[in-house]
Amino acid sequence: MFETADALLDLSQRLRPLAAQAGRDLGSALPRLRPPGALPEKEFLERCQCSGKCVSVCPVSAIRIDNSRDPMKSGRPYIRPMEQACVLCDDLSCMKSCPSGALELVPREQISMGIAGVDALLCRRTMGDDCRLCIEKCPLGERAIILAASGQVEVKTSGCTGCGVCEMYCPTAPRAIVVLPLRS
Ligand code: SF4
Ligand code: SF4
Ligand code: SF4
Repeated sequence: MFETADALLDLSQRLRPLAAQAGRDLGSALPRLRPPGALPEKEFLERCQCSGKCVSVCPVSAIRIDNSRDPMKSGRPYIRPMEQACVLCDDLSCMKSCPSGALELVPREQISMGIAGVDALLCRRTMGDDCRLCIEKCPLGERAIILAASGQVEVKTSGCTGCGVCEMYCPTAPRAIVVLPLRS
């Protein structure tokens, strides 16, 4: 998993200039972020019955339905953390409600939807602000994200679940911290 995460972080660094040129948040240029517990992407797309159960039970309405013209993607759930992240609710309702097994129930700390990546060039800390919003709001705390000795935000690949709460609260536009979906 860590090699995949490192590869994604590297990819994000290469995508950011393109996203910035296009005037878009990097999040909008990335593949869909699936809800927690999602099977690997191909299996997830095949298994999902488009029941919408996960959408209706999420207490923060984080889960949206894809209206893609691609029949393999249409009707499948995804999350756009910049607008509403998964808050890793106590009940983990989406996984418990999935009737098809496309979302499997996994313990909170083992959720691995994606991994957050920080662009220091966009981060307010680089401009001299003492912003710590991403660190303060992370549901996993220092298990997932810390302020490094360098003064920069550091995401721990072993602890980050990819919930996207950090991205939701980051005050910059485009966001200085973005979740990169993890897929296999
Ligand atoms: S874990 Fe809870 S908050 Fe997160 S997407 Fe599922 S239902 Fe919503
Ligand atoms: S660092 Fe961000 S994506 Fe990772 S667990 Fe914390 S809030 Fe969620
Ligand atoms: S919330 Fe955004 S701007 Fe603030 S420290 Fe985190 S990455 Fe930087």
